[in-house]
Amino acid sequence: MIASQADVFAGIEAVFFDLFDTLVRVDGSRLPSVEWKGQHVPSTAPVLFSEAKDLLGDLSFDQYLAGAIEVSREIGAEKTASTVEISTNQRMTRILERVAPDVDDAIRNARAEILAERHMRMLADSLVAVEGARDLLEAVRERGLRVALISNFECTEAVPWILEGTDLEGTLEELIVSEDLGICKPDERIFQTALRSLDTQAENALHVGDSARADIWGGGRAGMRTAWINPKDAPFPFEDHLPSLTVRRLAALRAWLSGA
Ligand SMILES: [Mg+2]
Repeated sequence: MIASQADVFAGIEAVFFDLFDTLVRVDGSRLPSVEWKGQHVPSTAPVLFSEAKDLLGDLSFDQYLAGAIEVSREIGAEKTASTVEISTNQRMTRILERVAPDVDDAIRNARAEILAERHMRMLADSLVAVEGARDLLEAVRERGLRVALISNFECTEAVPWILEGTDLEGTLEELIVSEDLGICKPDERIFQTALRSLDTQAENALHVGDSARADIWGGGRAGMRTAWINPKDAPFPFEDHLPSLTVRRLAALRAWLSGA
């Protein structure tokens, strides 16, 4: 890779950040808890189930949850195989098709929109900024570097709510979101769109993220330098496009920035 750990910021004009588990994270205690296969997991499902109840006949919550999980797994597999993004509206429509197959299309689509909005509001309210996120973003801008977001996220509309709720609003110049483009990282086209949005070249850009595949392998393949947030010290699972820098915590990047 281009940079050694020591000069990861040298010559860099623009820094791109992933959103989830890089700048923000879910605080599970702010969401309802669901028991699934003996485990308690935070989930919006109980609220969505009650919002859809009149369409579900005598379907139990467990049956609803099983359908929703099945659809989510199918979507996950599709996204991994193709890098196509599927919006929250589409996800909710597919869940209702699975759990309430006899409902009229127009009624189902209208309800899917309500569920998507409800889900996103709850998700946004459950998020907190990662420690040091705002400080780092401000420090990057104070150095005269440009800053933007590249997020794999199913709901573009919710990104401003999330930034506002986590006190990160005003820190990012451009918001590049997969739902808008219909494609996800590691697809090279999302990185190219982001580079164009800041009028910069890949060799002058750094991408920061927690996903080895989406952020690091993808950003590297697009020609960018990469910084991997790797809290568990996991081995990098690919043979090419290794991270230019690996840190356990986002806040550690501040020291590299100061040293550049
Ligand atoms: Mg992430």
